[in-house]
Amino acid sequence: MFKKRRFITVKKEIARITGKDNVRCDAVELMAYSYDAGLSKAAPEAVINFDNINQIAPVVKILYQARIPFLPRLAGTNLSGGTIPLKSGVILNLSQLNKIYQIDTTNNIAVVEPGVVNINLQKELDKFGYFYAPDPASQKVCTIGGNIGENAGGPQCLKYGVTSNNISKLLIITPEGDEITLSEKDAGPGLMSLFIGSEGTLGIAIKAWLKIIPKPKIIKTCTAAFLTIEDSIKAATKIIEAGVLPRALEAMDKTCVDASENIIKNPYPGESEAMLIIELDCDDENEINKNIKEIKNICDNCFSNFFRVADTKTESEALWAIRKGAYPAMARLAPNVLVEDGVVPRPKLPEALKKIKAIIKNYDLKASILFHAGDGNIHPNIIFDERDIEEVKIVKKAGYEILKTCIDLGGSISGEHGIGIEKRVAMNWLYPTATLELFKNIKTSFDPENLSNPDKIVPVSLDSRNEIFSKTHSSDNKILNNILNEVKSRYRADAQSVIVGSDSNSNKNLENENNILSLSALTEIIDLDRENFTVKVEAGIKISRLKELLKTSSLYPALPDYEGTLGGLIAGNCAKNIKNILIGLDIMTSNGEIHSFGGKTLKNVAGYDVAKLFIGSMGAYGIILNATIKLDSKNQDFFEAMPGAVSRTMSTKTAEAMPGAATKDHAHPATTTSAGRQTARFTPGKYSRRLKKVFDPKNLFNSRLYNIKKDSPALSGKDVSSLKDYSMKKLHKQNDLFKLSEQDK
Ligand SMILES: Cc1cc2nc3c(=O)[nH]c(=O)nc-3n(C[C@H](O)[C@H](O)[C@H](O)COP(=O)(O)OP(=O)(O)OC[C@H]3O[C@@H](n4cnc5c(N)ncnc54)[C@H](O)[C@@H]3O)c2cc1C
Repeated sequence: MFKKRRFITVKKEIARITGKDNVRCDAVELMAYSYDAGLSKAAPEAVINFDNINQIAPVVKILYQARIPFLPRLAGTNLSGGTIPLKSGVILNLSQLNKIYQIDTTNNIAVVEPGVVNINLQKELDKFGYFYAPDPASQKVCTIGGNIGENAGGPQCLKYGVTSNNISKLLIITPEGDEITLSEKDAGPGLMSLFIGSEGTLGIAIKAWLKIIPKPKIIKTCTAAFLTIEDSIKAATKIIEAGVLPRALEAMDKTCVDASENIIKNPYPGESEAMLIIELDCDDENEINKNIKEIKNICDNCFSNFFRVADTKTESEALWAIRKGAYPAMARLAPNVLVEDGVVPRPKLPEALKKIKAIIKNYDLKASILFHAGDGNIHPNIIFDERDIEEVKIVKKAGYEILKTCIDLGGSISGEHGIGIEKRVAMNWLYPTATLELFKNIKTSFDPENLSNPDKIVPVSLDSRNEIFSKTHSSDNKILNNILNEVKSRYRADAQSVIVGSDSNSNKNLENENNILSLSALTEIIDLDRENFTVKVEAGIKISRLKELLKTSSLYPALPDYEGTLGGLIAGNCAKNIKNILIGLDIMTSNGEIHSFGGKTLKNVAGYDVAKLFIGSMGAYGIILNATIKLDSKNQDFFEAMPGAVSRTMSTKTAEAMPGAATKDHAHPATTTSAGRQTARFTPGKYSRRLKKVFDPKNLFNSRLYNIKKDSPALSGKDVSSLKDYSMKKLHKQNDLFKLSEQDK
């Protein structure tokens, strides 16, 4: 489909935009861009360097019209082959776009270009007493654009969230060359969240508004050593259970520390097998000292043989140099390093570790193991020599077994490095075919010709085994099955539904609505995991009831006092911090397919972030069946510390039920916060319309949001049970109602 050597046909036209010297087709340049930090290789046809962000849209338009594949590239440190031009085509090198436009300490925002290196931004912010939370271990070279592309995390994301929690707004060039702005303040579905972590497949971020945070007054770095790695993980888990939320909680094994010997002398007792770095920040000296005391006690109880609080900034930096230098240290031991990036629910770490160690031993490999212990993200660093084909095969096999182990333990195949090329096959083990098809269609809705970083994330050939799907969704939940059957029969009859969270909600506008499909019977807690601090709960539960139930277990969701249901809160984007605590979502599309996104892991970048896309989707993309959210052990707003979070006490005067369905004009209901924030009304744009077609091609759910002119006939009641009495024969066919305008197609 993609013909090679087509670039020559557009070379002159592009050179007129970028300047001749910025268009490179010479062999050396092409070779330099034929590899990245992963294992895959493929040469591009050309490399285009940009020195002005305004050059990108016209160049993308030309490439798109000529059907030439392209991909944005920055430092190339993604570890999944994400910047390999598999279909040849053009590398768009954005690394010269490294302006910091503004550091705004009034609004706590920094405005930057994509090529800004993470550490350079941190250094600039430091001058103003600020920091930007995502701090990947690769921060000395990786860039903000790459961080957005991968939804990067880092040690500090345990407390402050990953990239998607720390971006306020993005300026984007879509694959077709449109310039659009996506903001967390946009009404409607979470397009910005969908874009973050999309690995350059949905377009290119050319400018970012980042949330910056005032530096805490006190930062203390502690380190502890243990005789076994299991004990170190136990200690990490107990620290979180105790309700202490460190700024960072990292673990590494002896191999890793020993590998760093030539940078820094191993500061731990010789017999130590594992080390933790625990960093705390706070404005209150007494509180931080109290927490350190508690952490020391926990470490002692887990048989630590060494504990120390760094005396000086230099000592603290030395500890971090060991942790952040682990990869280069391992890379010095052999020509290649495979860094795996599995993630499991935190309490499963000891089991995951045992199994991973067994895999490494079984294949007789040398590896160090690093963890973002606080959020269950495991990085075995396996060293090998790529010139030995047999060894490469074994290493890859071991890597896949590690990923399968993480999936078996309820985890995911990537916490932060992305899927790229190298983990595409593993997507088949994590998702059923129907969900992978959905991902494909999401890609197509942004990139109909499949030109922007093609063949990444979604496997090229889908594996039709559906075991995971049937395991998850063979439900004996009668209410769910009723909804499923109802939705399927309505789909067959082209009958529309108005989705509502509860029938007893205060918004009386609903009384005149037809075809109401209420989720009020879905109120069960499906899985309360006290050790993991998560709850999976059905969407029809009232927030007040959820809080009441959790309180009996001394667990607290950082949610505002809100009168409606959890599903309504998510679909209506009625609490700004919901995106910081939502980690999993099961949804039903209008044809009755059930899909699961995310789960109990705190980090997950495998596939597009559909869970967060559904925040603000207003019931028009699908029914939210249940959600998994993070909990706190204290009834306090530690999520306030996260950028963008709102106070628990905010007054949320938001219409309940599925917003849009509930209001006369079917727009996003205005949400008023104590800060006086008023979200805009929702007018579907080109991309939210195209996505609507992906999830609900017949426009059956909350259809008026997407310009539907008439309603389906009335139902006799609002509850799902009453829907049973309704004769489907009475429903009109309405397939003429969902038409996209020419420009939306
Ligand atoms: C030693 C080491 C340690 C690491 N530690 C961490 C860690 O702690 N946490 C972590 O999250 N990751 C880590 N990584 C992985 C990697 O550094 C991150 O994924 C980083 O965000 C990639 O940034 P980059 O500038 O290298 O981007 P690249 O690798 O060049 O690009 C990454 C992806 O983003 C896309 N992309 C690039 N620019 C844009 C843009 N402007 N708009 C949209 N998409 C774009 C690319 O096409 C590609 O798919 C580590 C890697 C290494 C080698």
